[in-house]
Amino acid sequence: MHETTKIIHAIPVDELTGAISVPIYQTSTFVQQAPGVHKGFDYARSNNPTRKVLEDLIAQLENGIAGFAFASGLAAIDCVLKLLKTGDEIVAVDDIYGGSFRLFTHVYEKFGIKVNYIDTTEIENVSDAVNEKTKLVWIESPTNPTLKISDIKTISEIAHRYNAWVVVDNTFASPASQKPIEFGADIIIHSATKYLAGHSDLIAGLVVVNSNALAEKIKFIQNASGGILAPFDSWLTIRGIETLPLRMEKISANAQIIAEYLEQDDLIEKVFYPGLTSHINYHIAKQQQKYFGGVISFILKEDTVEAATKFCTSTHLFKLAESLGGVKSLLCHPASMTHKSIPVEKRKQAGIADSLIRLSVGLEDADDLVDDIKNALVKINLKEFTAIGIN
Ligand SMILES: *Cc1c(COP(=O)(O)O)cnc(C)c1O
Repeated sequence: MHETTKIIHAIPVDELTGAISVPIYQTSTFVQQAPGVHKGFDYARSNNPTRKVLEDLIAQLENGIAGFAFASGLAAIDCVLKLLKTGDEIVAVDDIYGGSFRLFTHVYEKFGIKVNYIDTTEIENVSDAVNEKTKLVWIESPTNPTLKISDIKTISEIAHRYNAWVVVDNTFASPASQKPIEFGADIIIHSATKYLAGHSDLIAGLVVVNSNALAEKIKFIQNASGGILAPFDSWLTIRGIETLPLRMEKISANAQIIAEYLEQDDLIEKVFYPGLTSHINYHIAKQQQKYFGGVISFILKEDTVEAATKFCTSTHLFKLAESLGGVKSLLCHPASMTHKSIPVEKRKQAGIADSLIRLSVGLEDADDLVDDIKNALVKINLKEFTAIGIN
């Protein structure tokens, strides 16, 4: 069977009633036949039938052994970090998601866990950094917002020589386009808030593991810490996943058209999109990803915060908001939004110029989106500029 068919039919019909849609089991506890004798469910923090459908579904989508659902992407990441103990080290991609950086640095470093941030697109950096103390090698591919791609297979080979687990935050690619376990990764993270749920209507996180030993550990921590996803949000995420392959295909086709348009526009200095042959990691992206996704970043020739602000407040279809992966197109200005807390020099070093704008392409018609961008670009050169308000 093809992937789309498999996903739709991996969501089971309800055994009790025949309901074609997964029932939302809004319950805290389950009646037992005798003390300790039950149908696999005793208390809803430990296990909930609606959440279990989602957990089994994401495991199947990622070709893993087991899946786990959490109240946010960061709760999922936090659960994985609890595999570590004092003295353990993490080697992590340098332009890691800001929330992960905050959790690593400001929460876990005080427990004696050291994090070494490196550019994982260069394999030599990885071989130099990984050592006997390394417990996790943490990558994102593509990264945010410059869409850097790391070679998951080679990194996994290096990490496994030192018995370190490879964690891939697969949020930007989604399993419709990339399955890191096939390249040797051990643990997959998702902010399901983004492409998996796909409609900008909830916050959720997922973990998938590739071994029974890891599944046991994560299950234990999930239940011990309790940051689980609620039944209704589990249901919404399942519903989102039903259309994931379809959405990723259309979103990526839209993004390709927009990235190619941007690349030839005179007002644009540089475009970051893994589907462009000009992208530095294009070849590895092509090996790892079926689709290149919906996130595009670009820098204006007039590289100023003012020019970027004019653009960001002039679009009508692209709404100015953080986050990504929904059906409605969004845009953001990392220098003054998502990456505001990073010192200017460090931000620029990471390739996030003053005028860098990140697009999250949605499901609108590509022609309309290109027109929206063209019209907003014209505004950059207007002397008498007034923002349109809430765009
Ligand atoms: C959004 C995001 C997260 C955090 O997920 P939340 O659902 O917001 O907690 C983690 N990693 C990446 C790559 C993200 O984009």
